[in-house]
Order: sequence, then structure tokens, then C-alpha cells
Amino acid sequence: MGKGYIRNITILLLLFVAYFSTARFGLELNAVSHFATLVWAPTGIAIAAIFLFGFRFWPAITLAAFAVNLVIGARPAVALGIAIGNTLEALLAAYLLKRVIKFDPKMERVKDVFGLILLAAVLSTMVSASIGVTSLFLGHVIASGSFGSTWIAWWVGDLLGAAVVAPLILVWSQHLRPWPSLRQMGEVSAYVLGLLVLSVLIFRVLPLAGIQPFTFLYVVFPVMIWAALRFGQFGSVTATFVVSAASIWGTVTSSNASEIGLSHNLLILQSFMVVAAVTFMIMAAVVAEREKSQKQKQFLAHRAEFLAQQRNRLVALNKAKDEFIALASHQLRTPATIVKMYTGMLRSNYSDELSDDQKELLEIAYQSNEQQLHLVDAMLRVARLDTGKIVLKKENVELAGLIDDILVSFNGSFAARKQSVHFKRPNQAFVTNVDKEKVRMVLENIIDNASKYTPEGKHIDIRLKRRVDGMAVAVQDNGIGIVKKDLRKLFKKFSRIDNPLSTTVNGTGLGLYWANKIVALHKGTIEVISTPDKGSTFTVVLPRDS
Ligand code: ADP
Repeated sequence: MGKGYIRNITILLLLFVAYFSTARFGLELNAVSHFATLVWAPTGIAIAAIFLFGFRFWPAITLAAFAVNLVIGARPAVALGIAIGNTLEALLAAYLLKRVIKFDPKMERVKDVFGLILLAAVLSTMVSASIGVTSLFLGHVIASGSFGSTWIAWWVGDLLGAAVVAPLILVWSQHLRPWPSLRQMGEVSAYVLGLLVLSVLIFRVLPLAGIQPFTFLYVVFPVMIWAALRFGQFGSVTATFVVSAASIWGTVTSSNASEIGLSHNLLILQSFMVVAAVTFMIMAAVVAEREKSQKQKQFLAHRAEFLAQQRNRLVALNKAKDEFIALASHQLRTPATIVKMYTGMLRSNYSDELSDDQKELLEIAYQSNEQQLHLVDAMLRVARLDTGKIVLKKENVELAGLIDDILVSFNGSFAARKQSVHFKRPNQAFVTNVDKEKVRMVLENIIDNASKYTPEGKHIDIRLKRRVDGMAVAVQDNGIGIVKKDLRKLFKKFSRIDNPLSTTVNGTGLGLYWANKIVALHKGTIEVISTPDKGSTFTVVLPRDS
């Protein structure tokens, strides 16, 4: 026999016993027409059990309800009708709680409390009352005249079971694991004991002393409020149950023998219990929600503080890194410049005295040194930018003239790559207020890229356009293009994109990063449109009054 099987049988048996015994007890207390009782704890037990263990345990409820009604003298058909009503009530309540409001048995949200009261306590209990009382009527146990009053008694009894007993089981089920500490158990026990003594005093001793029962009902309120605030929902449902149990016991044992007197007193008690249960459960849920949101706020505040610290740390690290690059590049520049000077001298003054092999080696050294200087310069430029040491020296610049100048300086490299460049010179002047040197370097970078990433023999187009947002210089190549996913990387620091030409052409991955920042300092933008294997168009837009 599997473990699960034994567990299921145990649950079925326990549920049967709990339902049967509390039902028997409730019916003995005060039953209307022998069957409808004002205190019906089994409803609460059944709802909680089906919710916690699952719908498949319904037979325990049907059997227990059937048996208990047989025992008190119902005919089998009537007992069966009542048992079906009681079972459907629990199934419906558990279903509504699970599906409609995704009930959390901790009941720390106001939503759970309202859900339990409205769906389980008020609504689903109507099913049991209706089927049960109809069974009694059809079985000729009650006459049609007492249908209404029996229905109400049945419904209110079930409602109380659902509102007082179900929350007790549901909330306790969530607090037993992990077990409360000894200190907590001691505190709760002392509190429950105190409440019990107080309830017995109010509901049993005072009535015996001739004071009307319920005269001092309100005395329990501060104590229950304290429970809801101190122990949360756990305290609230426990206090409500203890006070309910003690008050019922006190009322039943101290009421005068007449059934009417007892019913009357129990009715007053019922309204008290429903109001108390709802009030303190809502209070505990509101407190829990408030605490939760405060905890969340605290958590968010800590998180924000932590993130701010991290941010400051990263900013400081980034600054240190920028300063290091600036320093290192500066230190690297001096020896590289000296190497350039001497290899330059060798190239121009002693070339006649060198063999062809020596000349070739010297040329390699010279070109490598050029590259190194180019990289160091790019790094220095970026470092100056990142450390905020860039100052724009603006002047009125005529863009067409500037592009002409740049193209002249690029003649050699275009010719080496057998590329043709077409710049359609506009008729009017394109004057803008910018830092001429920096904008020149931006355009040089973009034109140089257009040439570098375009195969030999192809064509490059440059156009100047007036746009609403400024003057636009568009450089269109017929090169290798850029795939869409790489477009975002273009303007990042040190980002070189893998392409068939990136291994053969020199580059630093710093050019576009720097260019983009410089254009942004002018409040302009660089736009890119590219199709792999077809080519790219880089458009630099400079506002007129940038
Ligand atoms: P690099 O010094 O490597 O050219 P850039 O920052 O200027 O650095 O460019 C970054 C990368 O963007 C280049 O490595 C290249 O892969 C890609 N790229 C730039 N311009 C073009 C272009 N016109 N066509 C294709 N790819 C380009």
C-alpha cells in the first residue's frame, strides 16, 4: 500500500469523524425541527478540508452527513438529500475560492476575507440550506409554513460555520509549518487562556449572577482588536473562534430551559459572531497588507540605495579607467613619435644607401608605427571626450568647401583602391556654426569608412541636403553593408564588426564612437541605413544653429 493511499484514507477517516462529531454536537445544542441547527461547524470543516486537500475527499462529507442524519432519526431518502446538499455546498465553496479569487488561506489580503465571506459563507451555504430544507419538506418532516424559518436557521448556521470555523482551520494550516517558536506558543496560549476566562466571565458567570447575558459583550472587543494587531490573521481567527465557542457554551448552559429563550439568545450571538468574525478578519488583513506594502517600500528603498552606491562605484571606476587610458596613451605617444621621427629620417635621407630588402623592412616599420600613432591618437581623443575635456570652438563653416578639402586629402587612398567618388556640389552655400576641426574629423572618419568597407573599383556618393532638422551630409557607399543586428553596436566603444574586410583593413573601433559623441555635442545625429552586400548610407545631420 503506497504512502499516498494511507494518507488519503487517513484524511477521509479524520474528515468523516470530525464532520460527524461536530454535526452531532451542533444538532444537540439547538436544532430547529431536529435537523436545522443554529450552530453548524461541519460546514467550516468541510469547506476548509476540500480546499486544502482536494475535491476528491467529498465522500467523507456525504457519508458523515448521511450517517449523522440517520442517527438522529431521518429517513434514508431525507438523510441522503441533506447529505448531497452539504457536500455540494463544500465543493462549490472550495471551487469558487480556488477559481474565482485564487484564495490564499493565509488570508492576509482583504480580497481573501471578502471572498471567503461572500462566496463561501453567504453564497454556497444557500445550496445546502435549499437542498436540505427541501428534503425535509419532501420527506414531510416540516410543513410548508415553516419552510422559510427552517431555511433561514439552516443557512445562518452554515454561514457561521463557514465564517468562523473555516478561517480557523485555513489560517492555522498555514501557520503550523514551520512550527511557531516556544515563545510564540507561550504567548498565544496565555492570550487564548485569558480570552477564554474573559468570555466565560461575560457569557457564563455574569448571567448566573443575574446580569443579562450579552450586557458586557463589547468588553471582548479591545482584546480581539489587540489579537488582530498583535498576531495578525492567526490571532484574529483564533480569538473569534475562542470567543464564539465560549459564548455558545455559556449561552447554552446558562439560558433558561425554554427553547425559545435559547434560540433568541443564540440568534443574538450569531449576529455578534458574524460581525466579529468579519470585522477582525478584515482588520487583520488590512494590517497585513499595510505591513507588506511597508516592507516592499523598505525593500525598494534599500534597493535604490544599493543601486545608487553601485552606480557611484561604476562611475568612479569608469572615470579611473578613462584617466588611465588618457595617461597611458599620452605616455605611449612620446616614444612612438620618436620612432616615427627616426624611421621618417631613414626613409627620406638614407633611402639611397639601403638595399631593397632593407627598404621594405623599413617601410613595414614605418607603417606599423603610423598605425600605432593612429590608435594612440584615437585613444587620446576618446579619453579627452570621456573625461569631459572637449571644448567646441565654433565658427561659421561652409560644408561644401569642407567636403571638397577632405576629398582632396583622400585622393591618394581612393586611387589606391580604384574607387570613384562623386560629390554633387550644391548651388547655394551650406553654412553652419560648428567646430570645424572636429566636424572635419567626423566626416573624414565616415568617408574613410565608406572607402575601407567598399571593395575595390566601386563607387561612393556624397550629397548635401537641407532638412527641417538641419544640414545633412549623406555618404553612400556600395560596400559590404552591415547586418541589422550589428547596427546597434556601431557607435559603441572599441566595437569592430566582423565582416570580410575588417581583418584586412586597419581600424580601432573608436572612430564612430567618437564621431557620434562629437555630433551629439553639436546637438546633431548620425543616421545609418544599410543593406548587407549592397552598401550603407551614413548621414550626419548638423542643426543650423548647433
Ligand atoms: P574602425 O576603426 O574599425 O573603422 P569605426 O568606429 O569607424 O571603427 O567603425 C566601427 C565598425 O563599423 C567598423 O569596424 C566596421 O565593421 C563598421 N563600419 C563602419 N562604417 C562602415 C561602412 N561604411 N560599411 C560597413 N561597415 C562599416
